[in-house]
Amino acid sequence: MLKLEKLNKSFGEHHALVDITTTFPEHQTTVILGPSGSGKSTLLRSLNLLERPESGRYFFDDDVFDFAKGISVKDTLNIRKRTEMVFQGYNLFPHLTVLKNIMEGPIQVLRRPKAEVEKDAHALLKKVGLADKADVYPNQLSGGQAQRVAIARSLAMQPKYILLDEPTSALDPELELEVLKVLKQISTEKRSMIIVTHNMAFAREVADKIIFVEDGHILFDGSNEDFFKTENKRIADFISAMT
Ligand code: ADP
Ligand code: MG
Repeated sequence: MLKLEKLNKSFGEHHALVDITTTFPEHQTTVILGPSGSGKSTLLRSLNLLERPESGRYFFDDDVFDFAKGISVKDTLNIRKRTEMVFQGYNLFPHLTVLKNIMEGPIQVLRRPKAEVEKDAHALLKKVGLADKADVYPNQLSGGQAQRVAIARSLAMQPKYILLDEPTSALDPELELEVLKVLKQISTEKRSMIIVTHNMAFAREVADKIIFVEDGHILFDGSNEDFFKTENKRIADFISAMT
């Protein structure tokens, strides 16, 4: 279980996250929604310590970290091992084949045996529908394919949580669909995922839990079902504007 308690993050005068308290249950997909600039990315990046909140406590399984006291390099690496961020897919290593891109982390960072890692990498490529792309280089992939490789690469690191920040926002609609299909499949496997998205239909389909953020505050924190029947006018307006 991953849990935040009274997390605060400012950028200069701007208070981007205000007293954020919430949980991200294991084996569930949590979707973070909210208008542009509301703090979604900052929240997600804080979970991976790409942002350093000024205060708040971060609970991860049996560990408790206090942002006000600072988090050591060792603890930072430890947290990053358990939370893998999927970026926009364009940070694949250009000089490595798709297969080698997926194998790099497990071999270099996790120090797993090569033969095993290779077998897993092929299985992951199959999972994301790219079994036939093992030996091509990233520049031969479409944006949707590159993003699916990025997802496979994050799964290969066997993190507890996979974090995705608008994983399809750079893609054309038809390429978006193929990525969403893969994410939907992964979400049925009861992995722990946290996804920021603007795609309401997708949120409705994959989310177990939804967090709605506005101006750095959590306006809704609850089940998918409750979110879509909310009587909060602000949220209802947002849903209808986005669908
Ligand atoms: P969202 O992902 O919901 O669009 P962000 O988390 O990116 O929102 O940003 C929340 C607020 O914090 C915005 O007002 C944004 O301009 C500001 N912000 C985010 N990152 C920085 C930064 N590195 N420096 C200054 N302001 C930032
Ligand atoms: Mg964002």
